[in-house]
Amino acid sequence: LVKMQELAKSYDNQYNVLDGINLEIEQGEFFVLVGPSGSGKSTLLRMIAGLEDISGGILKINDKVVNHLQPKDRNLSMVFQNYALYPHLTVEQNILFGLQAKKVSKQEQQQRLTETAEMMGLSELLKRKPKQLSGGQRQRVALARSVVSHAPLCLMDEPLSNLDAKLRAHMRIEIRRLQKKLGLTMIYVTHDQVEAMTMGDRIMVLNDGKIQQVGDPITLYNQPANLFVASFIGSPK
Ligand code: ATP
Ligand code: MG
Repeated sequence: LVKMQELAKSYDNQYNVLDGINLEIEQGEFFVLVGPSGSGKSTLLRMIAGLEDISGGILKINDKVVNHLQPKDRNLSMVFQNYALYPHLTVEQNILFGLQAKKVSKQEQQQRLTETAEMMGLSELLKRKPKQLSGGQRQRVALARSVVSHAPLCLMDEPLSNLDAKLRAHMRIEIRRLQKKLGLTMIYVTHDQVEAMTMGDRIMVLNDGKIQQVGDPITLYNQPANLFVASFIGSPK
């Protein structure tokens, strides 16, 4: 579904933040991206979303080159690291914001809202404004806004980082369940090894803008390509 060929990114013509990224992500796959801070994870997601210029290489979605396609025409949803919500809108309005433009019927909107709010534990908070919410609640509103769109390609940048361990475990299951149910293709960035190992169909380890290894969790654990992957994934080697 998403194909990258020699994808590269540099800011202000400086060194390459991403370099020679070759990767193909299958339809319906839960693809996890891990790597240390500054390794280029968010940059790669933002390039796929169309929020960041591509400095080199080719990006295809659905076999179509999208290097210069507007974000709104890419038919994807994204949860940002800083989950920007509209401060003047209620939780409900924030969640439904993107659907209004999409010709989804009022009835369907209500149904999705109820279902999503329940899944995210937000049902009691729909009339509040973002400033009346905790950090974790805001993060869940951002998640809800993304999944309510039912966009076939879903990009999430550390969507659970602000939640406590129990809620995080719950949300891992909910996200995975929804992704399966809707057959979404997911590209999911996380710092959390447990999250990567339990959620990912495949995991990609990134360091310094270069791919270290791509594979399923068991392979990465048992046959890490190098010491970096081994120490990052936590395998004994
Ligand atoms: P984290 O885990 O901390 O979120 P990351 O893997 O998401 O890290 P990126 O945000 O993709 O990392 O950043 C990759 C590199 O690009 C970093 O060295 C960062 O300083 C640099 N960078 C990011 N945005 C810009 C920008 N707008 N201008 C210049 N450099 C940038
Ligand atoms: Mg980041």
